Amino acid sequence: MSPKTPHTGVSTSRERVGTAAAAARRVLAVGPSGLFTDIDGTLSPIVAVPEAAAVPEPIKLALATLAERLDLVAAVTGRSVEEARGMVGLDRVAYVGNHGFERSSGGCVVVHPDAEPYVPLIAETLRTIAEEVQAPGIIFENKGVTASVHFRQTGDPETVRATLLDAIAGGPHAGELRILEGRFVLNLLPRLRLDKGYAVEELAAERGLRGAIFIGDDVTDLHAFKALTRLHQSHGLATLSIAVLSPESPSELVGATDLALQSVAEVGALLAALAVDPFSGDD
Ligand SMILES: [Mg+2]
Repeated sequence: MSPKTPHTGVSTSRERVGTAAAAARRVLAVGPSGLFTDIDGTLSPIVAVPEAAAVPEPIKLALATLAERLDLVAAVTGRSVEEARGMVGLDRVAYVGNHGFERSSGGCVVVHPDAEPYVPLIAETLRTIAEEVQAPGIIFENKGVTASVHFRQTGDPETVRATLLDAIAGGPHAGELRILEGRFVLNLLPRLRLDKGYAVEELAAERGLRGAIFIGDDVTDLHAFKALTRLHQSHGLATLSIAVLSPESPSELVGATDLALQSVAEVGALLAALAVDPFSGDD
């Protein structure tokens, strides 16, 4: 769908899911087609501690059915591929982890070769800022080729965020890394032209997709939404971008997508409807 239209927000949950399902079927009917989805805040409700996040069983069941019937179902996340696979738990799903810096391939994890040299730089930077910024509730997570610092649980998230940004800017390798901000999280990434959008475009090309859907909830998903726009405008793919909104949603999300759902539960209802019939429907 294009161009982007404003989301009025006056519909009921049932109407939003019905509209999204109808639009999704129109895209998936253009085979080969794929469903790309973020995980946290999209398939799994946001929780205080990242390790406690889980994908509800009904969503896993719907994804399992869709992975059988569609040419591609891919989970595209800032988490590592291992973590993503652990949360979704489906072998037939493709996993793109670490914001596009690694992906699953035949049961293995393949790190993008350009990103490999950044592993020690990420580790050293994380060690340095962990020594410098100490706040109760802060979580430093080394994910190999990227790192995340979660500050949702700190007493004063805005101050902690500002202190972290200063520490990263003054830390080692600042010029070789970039920061990608999410919901109460700062992600440290190699300064390379790789992101969720690049990964979506790469997978869509590899699989020869003619239809593609992306569902996501955060600023890190904006790259993927833009990638769908490029795939539509430059390569003629049928595409649908769906935002999952919450009180924490970044404002850019609405203008960057075709449709919006209001919760992970609505994503679950959409996936369940598509699992019953991904390609056609009278709604
Ligand atoms: Mg997310």
